[in-house]
Amino acid sequence: MTRLWTPWRMAFIQGEKPRECIFCTKPRENRDRANYILYRGRHNYIILNAFPYASGHLMIVPFAHVPSLEDLEPAVTAEMMELTKRALTALRVAERPEAFNVGVNIGKAAGAGIADHVHLHVVPRWVGDNNFMPVIGNARLLPEMLETTYEKLIAAGIAASP
Ligand SMILES: [Zn+2]
Repeated sequence: MTRLWTPWRMAFIQGEKPRECIFCTKPRENRDRANYILYRGRHNYIILNAFPYASGHLMIVPFAHVPSLEDLEPAVTAEMMELTKRALTALRVAERPEAFNVGVNIGKAAGAGIADHVHLHVVPRWVGDNNFMPVIGNARLLPEMLETTYEKLIAAGIAASP
């Protein structure tokens, strides 16, 4: 078995867990750039993952604090898909990936880091980027700085009017 050094994940796993849900508190703070919130829709927002598996790894998060997709109103899940499309369009320009993984981990046993507040992952992929291991094995190649990813996605129009 290959062992992979993943200090960024350990920082997440061992770090002080905030008592409040970060998916609820970050949008309330109204400092979107500092929190890497890229776009706010009516029911959901787009935010960069602070512990990315790949450059451009972002999440679509409903404002509602619920654990699973079926707890959300139809308008909310419909907008989640619209924002996913918006993210894919911008990521193709900003990061030029060859493929994507789009998925939702529902429940801790499925790998959800924050299981109480459902969110959808969009992970850009490249041929030869360790296959699926970065996604399922908590390993990844060195991503670019989050600030750089943020600026590239803004430049690519992720927050542009529909
Ligand atoms: Zn929450």
